[in-house]
Amino acid sequence: MRKKIVAGNWKMNKNFAEAEELVGAIADELDEKDLACEVIICPPALYLEMASDYAEESILSIAAQNVSNFDNGAYTGEVSASMLGEMEIAYCIVGHSERRKYFNETDKMLAEKVDRLLDYNMKPIFCIGEQLDERESGNHFDVVKNQMTNGVFHLNKDEFLNIVVAYEPVWAIGTGVVATPDQAQEMHSYIRGLISEKYGDKTADDTTILYGGSCNAQNAVTLFANADVDGGLIGGASLKADDFVKIVTSF
Ligand code: PEP
Repeated sequence: MRKKIVAGNWKMNKNFAEAEELVGAIADELDEKDLACEVIICPPALYLEMASDYAEESILSIAAQNVSNFDNGAYTGEVSASMLGEMEIAYCIVGHSERRKYFNETDKMLAEKVDRLLDYNMKPIFCIGEQLDERESGNHFDVVKNQMTNGVFHLNKDEFLNIVVAYEPVWAIGTGVVATPDQAQEMHSYIRGLISEKYGDKTADDTTILYGGSCNAQNAVTLFANADVDGGLIGGASLKADDFVKIVTSF
């Protein structure tokens, strides 16, 4: 049976002291609770070591927000999968819409990043999702299908079992406009269907599919109540310990 997951993507926020306070507060609050899901923190790269130290003492797992598509070498400013692997980072976000948009990350680069992470035994949190005009023109299913096909469907079944999918409609990210529970369920069920066509029902059933996009402490319960919504990738609302903990306990 698939895992429920709530992951907090801090993006490029918080100074070191604030980051340490936040991860400490989340770890403290969660350690007292009986949780129905895995909890992942995705801090900026420079805080991964500090966050990992907290994670070791708590139930938290840690994800990087990015990884190079190259293995190693003359790639100034990049962080490789082998470096993350040495730090025992468990997960890494790949294909976030901000990286696709601001850093021109192509499907080919994203597929390479997925491969690098699997080479070093990390689990990609693979983000997909349509723009507003693509939804309004009825192309949202095709967009998501292409992103899955180009980003992760080159994997064999055993490799694919390491993938966490995050459906994040771009129009919902950071906008305060959340997908309705029906919109989320419809797309998650479609994505599970794509996985089933490619790898079979069992693999589809075992794949965690997260929702992301203006998910918060108020709307998480109704989103997570859907059969195919296995948790969330949370941006803004992961930056306050109380809000994030409420989301984590929304199952
Ligand atoms: C995100 O960036 O992955 C995200 C879901 O952001 P927010 O929750 O702020 O919409």
